Amino acid sequence: MNKMIYLDHAATTRTLPEVTEAMEPYQDIYYGNPSTIYEFGEKSREAIEHARRIIAKTIRARPEEIYFTSGGTESDNWALKEAVHLYEHLHNGKKGHILTTPVEHHAILNSCVELNRMNCGVSYLHVDAGGRVVLSDVEEAISEHENTCLMSVMYANNEIGTIEPIDELGRMAKKRKLLFHTDAVQAYGHLPINVQRDNIDMLSASAHKFGGPKGVGFLYIRKEINLPAFVHGGAQESSRRAGTENVPGIVGMGVAAELAHRRMRIESRRIRYLRDYLSYRILQEIPDVIMTGNRKFRLANNASFCFKGITGEAAAILLDTQGICVSSGSACSTGSMEDSHVLTAIGLDSEWAQGAVRITLGAENTKEEMDYVAEKLKMVVADMRGIS
Ligand code: PLP
Repeated sequence: MNKMIYLDHAATTRTLPEVTEAMEPYQDIYYGNPSTIYEFGEKSREAIEHARRIIAKTIRARPEEIYFTSGGTESDNWALKEAVHLYEHLHNGKKGHILTTPVEHHAILNSCVELNRMNCGVSYLHVDAGGRVVLSDVEEAISEHENTCLMSVMYANNEIGTIEPIDELGRMAKKRKLLFHTDAVQAYGHLPINVQRDNIDMLSASAHKFGGPKGVGFLYIRKEINLPAFVHGGAQESSRRAGTENVPGIVGMGVAAELAHRRMRIESRRIRYLRDYLSYRILQEIPDVIMTGNRKFRLANNASFCFKGITGEAAAILLDTQGICVSSGSACSTGSMEDSHVLTAIGLDSEWAQGAVRITLGAENTKEEMDYVAEKLKMVVADMRGIS
């Protein structure tokens, strides 16, 4: 097989051809600034509002509740930092307290570190061996600090694919009058989301994870929440996120959102079948391997494993020489040999955690590729174990 086999869709996805095509005119034909008053600018403005309507519909929100950002990291920073500022503002400067989990993306974890440095409290909810929040501990964790103002729990995990019990967490947050934010960067476009049903107050998403371009995303903010502005400047995004809009990016994200939702059911069934086939082969044919994450509540495209006695980093490099792109742990922490914080949080010791390989499938993968990957992985693991 001489073409590249891309199996790192949790890191990023290929921009869909329909998306590129829709974006193109907004680069060189309709390049007007959406804030201008003439008709040329109106064209850009209308394209932005069209994308906003599409995206709002996909999560059962209202268009005015969608705010365009530069991606998941910015959306997460905005939600957390400004929810805490809002609490302080409403409570005469009193510091708030955040509840989150130890398996979040660094966009959340490092925002929490920063908030903690500014004297905001942070607690981490317990997760089980599959990385799911232990619901029976949540009520107590909320009660522990009377100034708890926000609960932020990811919709689905970027390393192990585990889907969190968002509906129940949303219900608990509502009952206890906390703001509820979810980082849905890995879930949006892959799972049906309903912010009304699940009592979600804020939700982060990123276009490049579902066939859209890089550097654009959105934050959903429930209308009733007076979340302060994050980027100060002009009046864009209702004066809450200033800066000339990334018009082509927003247009592309709208098209990607529509396509992802239209194809979701059929696509996830096909990908789940391929994922299960590959996983079965790996678990049957390679000794000393475990699949990480929850088996039932799991993104359809995620197959993550830990192989004993090897390093995932070296395995990914060797697979690359065979034309296969996979990730060792999280793509965002590639380059670091530290154990993944997610794998540590689910109780894996270093011997297992060092051998983490994350395979995430996408629209273009085939069964033939799964067979090729299973064979090459078997070979790479055996070689590495022979050497070590
Ligand atoms: N949150 C999660 C769960 C992610 O997986 C990622 C990216 O991998 C991000 C946030 C950051 O998103 P972005 O790359 O758009 O900044």
